[in-house]
Amino acid sequence: MNPPITFTVADLARDEGLAFRCFCGTRTFRRHELVALVGADARLNHIGLRRELWCATCREPPLDGQIVVVEDGSDT
Ligand SMILES: [Zn+2]
Repeated sequence: MNPPITFTVADLARDEGLAFRCFCGTRTFRRHELVALVGADARLNHIGLRRELWCATCREPPLDGQIVVVEDGSDT
């Protein structure tokens, strides 16, 4: 899924998050985690360039990222 170019973290639904894939595996950030790390106005089409979201293990930017529904969306 490719979000519109103006799509931001704030446009994610409460039960949506972003899954980033790197050499170590896949890490999923929930909406409120993204808000805390990069802010609600961060545009999703460049969000993979934000170092706050890079893998702490391989220290590389994510290979790709996609919007996912997070199973437990209760603790917003
Ligand atoms: Zn990694």
